[in-house]
Amino acid sequence: MTRLSELAPEYIRAIAPYQPGKPISDLAREMGLDPSRIVKLASNENPLGASPKAYEAMQQALEEIARYPDGNSFALRDAICEKFALKPAQLVFGNGSNDILELAARAFLTPGSAAVYSQHAFAVYALATQAVGAIGVTVPARDYGHDLDAMRAAITPQTRMVFIANPNNPTGTMLEKAALLDFLRSVPPSTLVVLDEAYDEYMPAAAKSESFTWLNEFDNLIISRTFSKAYGLAGLRIGYGAASPDVADMMNRVRQPFNVNSVAQAAAVASLADDNFVEQSYALNQAGMLQLTEAFERLGLAYIPSFGNFVSVRLDNAADVYRRLLESGVIVRPVANYEMPDYLRVSVGLFSENARFLEVLEQILKND
Ligand SMILES: *Cc1c(COP(=O)(O)O)cnc(C)c1O
Repeated sequence: MTRLSELAPEYIRAIAPYQPGKPISDLAREMGLDPSRIVKLASNENPLGASPKAYEAMQQALEEIARYPDGNSFALRDAICEKFALKPAQLVFGNGSNDILELAARAFLTPGSAAVYSQHAFAVYALATQAVGAIGVTVPARDYGHDLDAMRAAITPQTRMVFIANPNNPTGTMLEKAALLDFLRSVPPSTLVVLDEAYDEYMPAAAKSESFTWLNEFDNLIISRTFSKAYGLAGLRIGYGAASPDVADMMNRVRQPFNVNSVAQAAAVASLADDNFVEQSYALNQAGMLQLTEAFERLGLAYIPSFGNFVSVRLDNAADVYRRLLESGVIVRPVANYEMPDYLRVSVGLFSENARFLEVLEQILKND
């Protein structure tokens, strides 16, 4: 008898599943630990939670939970257009920004067409490409970051899409504004560029790309943003894409009509109005990043300077250190699946969480 999995196309069977950070509840169960004592620095979540204004809006939205959400996310669309000087027809909303990456792939990639992305880049680019049977072209990284020249050279008439993460996860590397602009100018107008800016809010103001203004110049640009990181709404699943109306229209055609729930829409609107919370999150991240990297230097550990809310640190026996951290109730992220077997990625947490991680790490290194 044939296994039913063999009925799936070869390109689906070839997909290596996404490996998420270990949930606190899993580790608590496996090790018999008290969940409240576990420190999770594994999924680049906001250690401050979400804006109090978002909680209020969510509570209020629950009153209407029996109703379908607004499939056009009118209020949120309006708020984003206002904040970033965009036009309503330029926006696409997603169940997380992962959904945006998938909508782009589903709308534009076909079996036989190709998508280009960098080695060590966010895993979802390969997943979204493979799920539609398109060819994924991985371009070797330069100093752990995107090699834009090599990525440009990898574009062929077959290439329909290029994925760029700025900053990139899990490396934290950042691309200069001028380099990105040069790249956009050099790409054929018929190749779409998906610029994933999930960590934009964590970038110092001077380093930000101001990519939304580039939409005036490049019809082939798709920018994706999320409420999962600095806005602290990862569990709610909401993100958005901005592109030319023509491109956004195609993405909206493959979108489920109610892909963004009503509670998420309400929380996102309220979050956008709370600049103070994002500023607080940015400041906490800056301080925590310094706390971690200063300790790495003191311990003689190499790390990749990061512009996100996480940092990848180099360790002998990274897999072993990961396991021993788990035993002490500290969850970080192994990145061997990103071709970085000697690194662990650590999200920046609260001061006390970072300190706990560093304390356990130092103990492990001492006993080695
Ligand atoms: C976390 C992350 C996202 C956000 O995913 P959501 O689906 O919005 O939660 C997108 N891109 C990168 C590079 C990320 O690290």
